[in-house]
Amino acid sequence: MRSMQPDILRRRLLLMLGSAGLAASPLGRLAHAQSRAARTGTAAAAEGAGKGMKVLVVGAGMAGLSAAITLAEAGAEVIIIEARDRIGGRIFTDRSLGVPIEHGANFIHGFNGNPVAELATEAGASPFFIDNEQWQVFEPGGTEPRDFELDDVLDDLDTIAEKATEEADGDASLSLLDVIEIIDPVLLKEPIGNWALTDVYEGDLAAPLSKLSALHFDGGDVFDGPDVVLRDGYDMLPAYLADGLDVRLGEPVRRILHTADGVTVETTKAELKADHCIVTVPLGVLKSGSLVFDPPLPDKQVKAIAAIGFGRLSKVSVLFDEAFWPEDPHFLGFAGPVRGRFADMLNLVPIHDAPVLTMIASGDYAETVDAMDDAALAADVTALLRDMFGEKARAPKAIVRHAWSRDPFALGAYSFPAISAVPEDHATLAAPSAPRLQLAGEHTSLEFFGTVHGALLSGERAAEAVLAARKG
Ligand SMILES: Cc1cc2nc3c(=O)[nH]c(=O)nc-3n(C[C@H](O)[C@H](O)[C@H](O)COP(=O)(O)OP(=O)(O)OC[C@H]3O[C@@H](n4cnc5c(N)ncnc54)[C@H](O)[C@@H]3O)c2cc1C
Repeated sequence: MRSMQPDILRRRLLLMLGSAGLAASPLGRLAHAQSRAARTGTAAAAEGAGKGMKVLVVGAGMAGLSAAITLAEAGAEVIIIEARDRIGGRIFTDRSLGVPIEHGANFIHGFNGNPVAELATEAGASPFFIDNEQWQVFEPGGTEPRDFELDDVLDDLDTIAEKATEEADGDASLSLLDVIEIIDPVLLKEPIGNWALTDVYEGDLAAPLSKLSALHFDGGDVFDGPDVVLRDGYDMLPAYLADGLDVRLGEPVRRILHTADGVTVETTKAELKADHCIVTVPLGVLKSGSLVFDPPLPDKQVKAIAAIGFGRLSKVSVLFDEAFWPEDPHFLGFAGPVRGRFADMLNLVPIHDAPVLTMIASGDYAETVDAMDDAALAADVTALLRDMFGEKARAPKAIVRHAWSRDPFALGAYSFPAISAVPEDHATLAAPSAPRLQLAGEHTSLEFFGTVHGALLSGERAAEAVLAARKG
């Protein structure tokens, strides 16, 4: 997800961004510690502020790992407890098709000044810079919209972005769909209009227009610069951070008891005690109540957990014996009759020289795809590509996907500004839950919710809070 920017589509058409290589930093993790210290404004690591302290971190995604390494570098004893048999959480790279396929996070969103970009550089990653000009949209039958049609749609989206909040007039019960129906109902009737709406809003925010808040849909902040795919797989970043940390895999946490003096964490296998606990499980897991807090989280946090949306986004990666689509574009678009039905496709020919399309279902269609069995999904994908490319379209050789909404350790894709929520809800989740208990994760980031960098920064923030609590 990239936090909303009204002109993202226009930028795709206008920006010309090239590729470059990243040299591994000779300082490696040391450089990371220094850049983190510069970001957080403390020298906790250098001071050994965590010496003698024991901290349990629940969840080995980017938030948990960045919290753990911040604490470990400050001298604390840290154990990470992870439910799955792998680290990375919603960074999940699958190599079964012969090249790295990303079921979860795919891009470093905005390379300039992004802490995840810094980490990738330190880890010696091989980046592929997405070129926003390399992008081609098709309609059923294989035709392409004309330039003026795309221009009109871009203007319409600009108008929606400008007028939506004014049109909502403080009415917190209105969805983005409600105000679009007032501002530009025709857009919702045109395939190209629906394609743009799903590309810019439903795909980025992982929610249907009908669930997005008309007041807050454009919240959040962004980093500048191109989006980047890591050619060796995004999972190299969690692996890089986890190196040397004590991670216990395959151990779901069931209950967290906390007092003014410490915490006890009950997993399916053991009971662990510590001075502090940082909980980074996804918002979907917090919403489900499958993890019990004793005593419960403060009322304000319970309300924020209910209010913030936790969305759906489904990526389906399809291998063919050869590419039958244009090989150069980094993205293909499909402006079909059903909004959200594989409107965007990442083309893996330029990235990995592989005949693979990662097809993205968004809005209500993401839920539809998660509910499909493998045969129905293969039929749907094949029918859509036939609509786009006619007889040239081949039958898939293999299909891989991960239904995040059905995954018990995620129960959705990422957080979004739901009708019921206000941006401050994210800040409410970032505040200490109790003297010895702190939440972290993308959903606790006011500026960067729904992203890997939001998760990484939230982990650092939670670790700093734990270190500061000790000092105070
Ligand atoms: C389809 C999709 C596409 C995305 N695309 C992008 C993108 O291109 N760019 C981007 O920046 N972001 C993207 N994101 C968002 C990004 O992946 C997340 O914001 C980020 O990875 C979240 O990190 P986290 O540490 O907060 O949570 P997670 O990575 O989910 O980590 C939480 C961990 O807690 C564990 N856990 C859950 N329950 C328990 C329990 N009871 N006990 C112990 N452990 C538990 C989980 O297994 C998991 O490992 C995407 C996400 C999805 C799903």
